[in-house]
Amino acid sequence: MNAQHFLDLDDRYGAHNYHPLPVVVAEATGTRVTDVDGRTYLDFLAGYSALNFGHRHPDLLAAATEQLGRVTLTSRAFHHDQSGPFCRELAELTGTDRVLPMNSGAEAVESAIKVARLWAHRVKGVPADGAEIVVADANFHGRTTTIVSFATDPTARAAFGPFTPGFTVTRYGDADAVAAAITDRTAAVLVEPIQGEAGVRLPPPDYLPRLRGLCDEHGVLLIADEIQSGLARTGELLACEHDGVRADLYTLGKALGGGILPVSAVVGSDEVLGVLRPGEHGSTFGGNPLACAVGRAVVRLLRTGEFQQRSRELGARMHARLAELTGAAEVRGRGLWAGVDLAPSGPTGRQVCERLAERGVLCKETQQTTLRLAPPLVITEPELDAGLDAVAEVLG
Ligand SMILES: *Cc1c(COP(=O)(O)O)cnc(C)c1O
Repeated sequence: MNAQHFLDLDDRYGAHNYHPLPVVVAEATGTRVTDVDGRTYLDFLAGYSALNFGHRHPDLLAAATEQLGRVTLTSRAFHHDQSGPFCRELAELTGTDRVLPMNSGAEAVESAIKVARLWAHRVKGVPADGAEIVVADANFHGRTTTIVSFATDPTARAAFGPFTPGFTVTRYGDADAVAAAITDRTAAVLVEPIQGEAGVRLPPPDYLPRLRGLCDEHGVLLIADEIQSGLARTGELLACEHDGVRADLYTLGKALGGGILPVSAVVGSDEVLGVLRPGEHGSTFGGNPLACAVGRAVVRLLRTGEFQQRSRELGARMHARLAELTGAAEVRGRGLWAGVDLAPSGPTGRQVCERLAERGVLCKETQQTTLRLAPPLVITEPELDAGLDAVAEVLG
């Protein structure tokens, strides 16, 4: 079967909610992806950071396989022997008290929103239905109806209303705007410490510290969405660490499932996550035995610090190379994560990605004109150099 057969099937029977490159993947290991025609590519996207440890990392596969031979699902009607250890190990890794396990990233964000509203009502005394959450523009927190209610990307919002009220949008990076948006009813400020989908946009260095200060001053929760930025992608466990900031709640996802299955979580303090009572929130698959076993193996990898260090070292190498590109209008990023704004006179993001694929490198544009580079953190120096050679060839 050649690629066209599978492209036709997707086109005919799948909903058209994505516009993927015409590469049909059949197998993958580490940093390498092989298509149905036997062609091999270097993965420079890593599933938007879901594959921080590469494809099918042996430790993660071993943990999953072991758990597949024991028990995979109990529902939350019963306890199982992976949940408590997973929650403890993830809480210890992140320096938090408690873990609320979920599945997708959007679900983790939804959960954090619900917890913040509950906390505002029960602890802060905000009247029922009155809680407000301050967010940033150009955000990406997922695709549910509530989350797209405060998206500013017109395509993501489109005709999906009516929308969930209770969100105030401020300009990303503008702490004064957040200060002006906070009221007696504000439950939380929800931001990405680095905006991934928006093109790996870093805020000014004083932004997160100032948000922390504002939240402390006004009794407001700081929620950091680290679903893409967290778990070693930027060279630290959490991107907030670069700015010396602790959030009250973190949403984690993507790499938490080790590239094997969807695993997400909200982690935070007793004071906040402790407000949930039985029956108020849940998910059939959230914190299932297989997810917890893989999540525990992910925590073990992260505890070594090896991936954080790889991201720092390889990231420095990558950014040094990217700084020399003549076809880039701007390069941003941290660790092994970069957003490359393409020069307006050159090829479009889509064209660049097509040309990279022809040269055996897979990545994907974001916001049409930005190339997002996020190779798996297991990539070797020669592989990184080879991929960046291809980028330089295409971009100049
Ligand atoms: C990917 C992402 C999400 C949504 O995660 P899904 O698993 O796709 O629902 C939320 N927030 C951020 C910052 C993300 O990058």
